[in-house]
Amino acid sequence: MANFEIKSKDLAGRIGKLQTKHGEIETPTVMPVMNPNKMTLNPKKIKKIGAQALITNAYILKKNHLHEVITQGIHNFLDFSGPIMTDSGAYQLMRYGEIGISNKEVLEFQEKINTDIGVILDIPTDTENKEKLNKAVKKTIERSKESEEYIKDKKTLYVGPLQGWKYPDIFRESVREQSKLDFDIHALGSIVPTMERYQYHKLMEPLRIIKEEIPENRPIHLFGAGHPMLFPFLVAMGADLFDSAAYSLYAQDGRYLTPTGTKKIDKMDYLPCSCPICTDNTIEDLKKPENQVKLAEHNLHITFEEIRQIKQSIREGTLYEILETKSRAHPALKKLMDELTNDMRTIQKRDPITKKHLFMVSKYSKKRPDYQRAFKKAKEIEGKRININEFGEVPVNLLECYPYSHIGEETLEEIKGLKINDLEKLKSISEYWLDLDIIPEDVEIIKSPKTGRIRNINRKGNLYLVIRSSDHMMLLHEAARELHKRTEYPKHRIIINKEAEEFVERGETIFNKFVEETDPELKPGELVLITNKDDRLLASGESYLSAKEIMEFKKGEAAKNRWNIKK
Ligand SMILES: [Zn+2]
Repeated sequence: MANFEIKSKDLAGRIGKLQTKHGEIETPTVMPVMNPNKMTLNPKKIKKIGAQALITNAYILKKNHLHEVITQGIHNFLDFSGPIMTDSGAYQLMRYGEIGISNKEVLEFQEKINTDIGVILDIPTDTENKEKLNKAVKKTIERSKESEEYIKDKKTLYVGPLQGWKYPDIFRESVREQSKLDFDIHALGSIVPTMERYQYHKLMEPLRIIKEEIPENRPIHLFGAGHPMLFPFLVAMGADLFDSAAYSLYAQDGRYLTPTGTKKIDKMDYLPCSCPICTDNTIEDLKKPENQVKLAEHNLHITFEEIRQIKQSIREGTLYEILETKSRAHPALKKLMDELTNDMRTIQKRDPITKKHLFMVSKYSKKRPDYQRAFKKAKEIEGKRININEFGEVPVNLLECYPYSHIGEETLEEIKGLKINDLEKLKSISEYWLDLDIIPEDVEIIKSPKTGRIRNINRKGNLYLVIRSSDHMMLLHEAARELHKRTEYPKHRIIINKEAEEFVERGETIFNKFVEETDPELKPGELVLITNKDDRLLASGESYLSAKEIMEFKKGEAAKNRWNIKK
């Protein structure tokens, strides 16, 4: 089982940490492809540009460099001390037919050269012929099963390839079979020809199936998805790892990578980039055939710039805005965005319920899960309403709650004149976040002297709950007991095992490994009650992951502990 945990989330995307024999990989990331026959760029340089891991081909190594790589090990051979993944040669199998090597030989070879991430010898399935495809998928499953005996207890992480995506019924069955086997990572295969035809939208359905069937704690790799303009869409759907030969193949073809596509360097007059290559060289320099390596280097800079931008946007909760922007860059990306937003369930289940802001910037904005949630909930709340732009009629009692609090001063000016009853407002806020009014009549409302906003709610001399200023979320204190009393197990709950009870009721973090059960509807960022199997209330807090993630991750945090019964 892979040592993988989530550090940040946005949409179905995540920043994760994956441990390998040669160090940690922070996902999402792309692994540059190193062709052992023709090293375009020095691995040290590649590392400096941003690569944490490389990928190379076990089949080519075995065929052309057997002696050196066996005696030196793969890390010395490539002169790279970080994690290295080796593909099995399945791609060569697709291009050249039989390659005269067995699955067992490939696995043994990968162990011998001390690879960090190995792949079984699967059968690529770039065919429209259902019968042929089905046969190939069955063979891959068969080989995966026969590999199990060999890969168990190995420190190398092994990849279970997912084949057959062109036929959803066959694909789901094959993904389900793979999910039962003891793989650390899964990789979607045979997508390169589809990407070469710009049919990116076709990748959405297989990703949905993968996210439904594969345990959350296994990173998802996409074989050969190396174009940076695709990364944000694939990450938003839950992909974690990519590999790229594109940076070098494009350079060989005189193509200059930009965040939204490629340009022929011969046709360019300016260098629209500030990487070291583009600032140290003139456009005329880069046009010279002998400077292909420099072009490859620029391409790699663009590739990693994109990865860093995606990670930063996950941290900020703005990945959706990147998708909206990119969808305008190319018709194929617009089609991809149409397909992505056509069925948002994969994203909606995993997306945090509040973010820093919700900007309505395109026709896609109304499809955002946080917009949809707010829209639906607001409709159910009674009381006076005010019309605000794209949100329509919004209860005035919710105007300080996410996402309405970011609508601008103008509207706030308008409501200043309105008389708002604080107790009624609190009751609406409670219904908005919890689907339930847990505010008794006898509470004492404390406001911030500076902003005049409601801050703390006391009851009978105790802190009942706190209103967080950033999103007007209610943080439960004594109110946790009320919510507990008024709801049925397992609604709003994370249920932990005996081992962790003592720590949790003292205020310590709730880790995934202690969780026995959760409310199946739980999303990241929700208010939660922490209980034991007998439904004894131990603490309250805020969920960090979705229900499926909490149950399937063995490492990392499930929820923050905000209040506990021993306090
Ligand atoms: Zn550049």
